[in-house]
Amino acid sequence: MGAIRARGKPRQWGEPRQVTLTRTSHGWYATITLRCQPTRKSGNGSVGIDLGVEAVATLSDGTRVENPRFLKRASSRLRGLQRKLSRQKRFSNRWKRTKQAIARLHRRVANQRDDFQHKLTAGWVARYGLIATESLKVKAMTAKGGRGKAGLNRAMLDVGMRGILQKLAYKAKEAGTRLVEVPTPKVKPSQTCPLCLRQEKKLPSQRVHRCPCGCAMPRDQAAALVMLRWALDPGCTGSSPSRRESTPWEPGGGEGSKSDLNEPRNPDHTAIAVGRG
Ligand SMILES: [Zn+2]
Repeated sequence: MGAIRARGKPRQWGEPRQVTLTRTSHGWYATITLRCQPTRKSGNGSVGIDLGVEAVATLSDGTRVENPRFLKRASSRLRGLQRKLSRQKRFSNRWKRTKQAIARLHRRVANQRDDFQHKLTAGWVARYGLIATESLKVKAMTAKGGRGKAGLNRAMLDVGMRGILQKLAYKAKEAGTRLVEVPTPKVKPSQTCPLCLRQEKKLPSQRVHRCPCGCAMPRDQAAALVMLRWALDPGCTGSSPSRRESTPWEPGGGEGSKSDLNEPRNPDHTAIAVGRG
């Protein structure tokens, strides 16, 4: 077959274990799987992260991560193609071509979104040693709720939140970053004042947090701050201090934590390079 060019490179080299050949509608792919022990460096800062629909993420320091534009563009293009498909005669050649175009678009969006999420979560783990965010389970359930955008667009954004939490969880584990999953139904980050902990319901349309104590800031930032505060002191909102953490961690490296960190956390981790022929 001769040499072919590879796209992408593994973050870490390892022993090649497997080559998978796949044929898709637009070419052949060879995926090479390497066995390696992933390492990643954790940062020192602490942060709370609120994941949402309006902004992909809002950090407790006020940083907002906007939805990438390719998602909006793709969802309007997808709607157009779906409409076109519904007008075409089923199983006709035109219909098949449109079907293929839809599949291609889905695949491209999935790749772009994955790439975006990997970069985002890798950046957080590199910067912070403690990250407080919502629990994956809770998010998966509440994300179905009706607020805001509906239908296709909404569904695409939901996949986004789950993808971010999943990637964040395993990257934090690799780096030894402490990830605290805040039980949001108990802690109610969006209804709690990060300064005085007073609780008051907000309407979904209320984008700013304003409290009689004088605290005023964007709603999502306030929620992120409440999660960070709870992670540092689970007793603060009066909810149960039980919490799930992905990594045992003691500040200043208490007993046992050192050997834990040096153990291979995920020996089956694979780095993947893809070539196209
Ligand atoms: Zn307050």
